[in-house]
Amino acid sequence: MAQRNGALSRPPLAAAPRTRYHSRMDTPDSRAVFRTEGVTKVYGTGAVEVHALRGVDLLLYEAELVVLLGASGSGKSTLLNILGGLDTATAGRVFFRDHDLSRASDKKLTEFRRDHVGFVFQFYNLVPSLTARENVALVTEIARRPMRPEEALERVGLGHRLDHFPAELSGGEQQRVAIARAIAKRPDVLLCDEPTGALDSATGITVLEALVEVNRDLGTTTALITHNAEIRKIAHRVIYVADGRISHQEVNETRIEPSQVVW
Ligand code: ADP
Ligand code: MG
Repeated sequence: MAQRNGALSRPPLAAAPRTRYHSRMDTPDSRAVFRTEGVTKVYGTGAVEVHALRGVDLLLYEAELVVLLGASGSGKSTLLNILGGLDTATAGRVFFRDHDLSRASDKKLTEFRRDHVGFVFQFYNLVPSLTARENVALVTEIARRPMRPEEALERVGLGHRLDHFPAELSGGEQQRVAIARAIAKRPDVLLCDEPTGALDSATGITVLEALVEVNRDLGTTTALITHNAEIRKIAHRVIYVADGRISHQEVNETRIEPSQVVW
């Protein structure tokens, strides 16, 4: 199947990197990168209260690529932001390995983000006056054990565009610079919120290819938010979010290459 179009020289994507995925979400597992217990998030107060998350129990494992799928407003971004230390839960616990993020100070959360998390958002947030290489170097200059900006850009297929400015790059290329920037510090986790949301399908595929390759080659635990159901097929595991809860999840026994995603 993976070779159908003859474009692939690699073997098909492996299934889950571990064989021990739990169908139950509430099994404590010391090998989990993230573990949440009963996470809720309420925005606002009184009459304008919004219950964005209504009790989320989640495990994310080392080296897996998870797709979070759900309708707009279901709570996906809120959940990702809480995992990444950009936001805090109203109640419940969030663990990154042995660290209890739900009890962490702002300073600790800042350190956690800096040392462990790469973010990719729908909009690329590149500095327009800096080249691709310089945009990535902004991060590598302050990271503890970064890869060279050139290596990060090569990993996302932009080794030939190092000295181009964002305005000289397509949307897909700009997003891949943003991915290079996110991975250059070798984060433990890569959190991606609708990274293809602003892209047409052809360029979106190049972005998904970059994410899949980073996950495969570096083993970076990756969580990818989308509302495009077809994209779930590239993941090891799919977590369905509905109305502030995880409604169900499934493990993909076989995965497809991003080039086979139809949307
Ligand atoms: P998704 O990413 O799945 O589209 P969000 O997590 O962004 O969903 O939002 C979940 C719910 O929380 C929505 O009803 C949204 O309007 C609300 N919400 C998100 N952020 C805020 C905020 N800062 N203040 C108030 N309500 C918010
Ligand atoms: Mg969102």
